[in-house]
Amino acid sequence: MFVEEDAKAILATSIPQRDVKDRLAWIGTSNGIYSAKSGYHFWFDRTVGTGNVQQHQGWSKIWKLNLHHKVRIFTWRICRNSIPVRTRLSSRGITLPLECPMCDKAPEDMLHLFFNCDFALECRNNVGLSYDMTGVIDVAGWLLDKIVELPSDEFGKLITVLLGVWFWRNNKVWNNKLVAASVAMAESCRSINNWREARKKLQVQKPSRAVNIDSRWTPPEAGALKVNVDVSIREGAESFGIGMVLRNHEGIFMAGKTLCLQAPSSVFEGEAIGVREALSWIADQHLEDRRVYVESDSQLTVRAIHNEDVNYLEVGVVVESCYQKLQQLEHVSLSFIRRNANRVAHELARYPCLAYCQVLFTSPPGNVVEAIMYDVLK
Ligand SMILES: [Zn+2]
Repeated sequence: MFVEEDAKAILATSIPQRDVKDRLAWIGTSNGIYSAKSGYHFWFDRTVGTGNVQQHQGWSKIWKLNLHHKVRIFTWRICRNSIPVRTRLSSRGITLPLECPMCDKAPEDMLHLFFNCDFALECRNNVGLSYDMTGVIDVAGWLLDKIVELPSDEFGKLITVLLGVWFWRNNKVWNNKLVAASVAMAESCRSINNWREARKKLQVQKPSRAVNIDSRWTPPEAGALKVNVDVSIREGAESFGIGMVLRNHEGIFMAGKTLCLQAPSSVFEGEAIGVREALSWIADQHLEDRRVYVESDSQLTVRAIHNEDVNYLEVGVVVESCYQKLQQLEHVSLSFIRRNANRVAHELARYPCLAYCQVLFTSPPGNVVEAIMYDVLK
């Protein structure tokens, strides 16, 4: 009656445990409602996507680069084509001027901003780097090649230049501040050298394994509840995991949830989506008479939602919806905690879950039991 492919898909459909009405839902968003942004993501991942470069050995090298984690994430974002340059935002339906904010001479795409723009060129000259970019169309693919081809020192220099260009580009856009390429590069080089020095010292000191008491999970006061949320994002994967756990003042596991959604464009976006899902989960459980503390280990996300950071253009929609939800949930507050205090959510985010599905727990699954014990045993 059905072709094999359809039959398989039908058989694989999970049957809801409660009696719910059928409805049409869009696969690209967690609430099933179509948005232009999710439509673009869906199309992009399946057509342009990273499919053709997914097997590139550069991907695995990104996370081994001897560079600050922030620089590695930036590298990953370029390779994923997810830097919110103006042509990209425009193709996602955002109306804004397309011209490069640095020179006003050409539309701002990655190739122009990072390579062909006068500012980028001066920055590269300043640190003695030069590349023949004739014929290069795909910056993401080009950079992936460079990760593999270049000696690690030179790649470090190259990505430092790109990050510097991006930093000053944002400074120009948001603060209308711009400096000469030589000053920009001096600052970039200083920050990378400082980081390297600090790292060397750390390696010499052999960091102690003692855990700072501040980084331990603490239960809320009697009567109150705590929700921890975390995400698990694997490079190149099509989806990512979100884990959340609800515990009481004794640290007892009351409920947990793992869900798996379409891969975000950045770690920041993923973390923000995680908080949004946790807030929806709390709202669904009608805990209005209880104080609920939500904790995330993404400082960037927590600060953005509390409106302390300005530059969150690319995840603005998610941050905004978190903010709105938090306003509606008067009994809920959100704060940042160290990763070490967020282990249970971290393990739940890694719990196996099919893409676009969710798993609800009324008792802790095996992989989080140890983390729960760790949190309550002082
Ligand atoms: Zn330019």
